Amino acid sequence: MNKNVLVVLSGPSGVGKGTVAKLLVERNKNVALSISCTTRQPRVGEVDGREYFFIDKNTFNDKVKNQGFLEYSEHFENCYGTPKDFVFDKLETNDVLLEIDVNGGLQVKKNYSDAVLIMLVPPSVEEIKRRLIKRGTESEEKINLRMERIEYELNKKDLYDYVVVNDDLETAIKEVEEIIKKEKQQ
Ligand code: ADP
Ligand code: 5GP
Repeated sequence: MNKNVLVVLSGPSGVGKGTVAKLLVERNKNVALSISCTTRQPRVGEVDGREYFFIDKNTFNDKVKNQGFLEYSEHFENCYGTPKDFVFDKLETNDVLLEIDVNGGLQVKKNYSDAVLIMLVPPSVEEIKRRLIKRGTESEEKINLRMERIEYELNKKDLYDYVVVNDDLETAIKEVEEIIKKEKQQ
């Protein structure tokens, strides 16, 4: 029988993780998206309990103390964490997709070695900046801050199980679908 897999999708900010994850979940009813906790403010259009659970710093720290996160990290002055119960409850009935940063992904693998790590990479560094500007959710200063992190994240790709280039969106989604299909049979 095919097993349910925990898939981690990582990659630098602006590479297209959110876009790929959303379409993947829409098209594959077996795949459920995990919802992370964050202390950052919601962006316009984001809904609590849909994109993230938006919580304050004290609540976040309590959850860290109570070992409530499968992994957590801090970036851009905000904290992000994957709620353990949420993920393992979902894994009973579905494949679960985590959309988290590279260090988070590596922490997940340490805590749950069956996790499948996929890194989404851009066709070029210039293209990722173009996408972030086009998305229009961050100031130029914040985009530049995020650009500095891109190289750091890309350098860790060898630690991931799979690397998928997000040039043509449909091709990237198909590749991720194939990886999940294959991993479910192992
Ligand atoms: P991330 O979640 O990794 O930060 P997003 O999914 O928000 O990235 O994508 C950043 C921007 O790039 C969005 O405007 C999105 O529409 C666009 N985008 C995503 N994938 C592609 C692609 N394959 N080709 C061109 N633009 C893309
Ligand atoms: P954003 O603020 O753009 O939604 O996310 C910023 C970064 O936080 C992205 O790289 C995203 O992948 C990462 N992130 C989101 N949720 C989590 C999480 O639960 N854990 C970790 N480690 N990173 C996360």
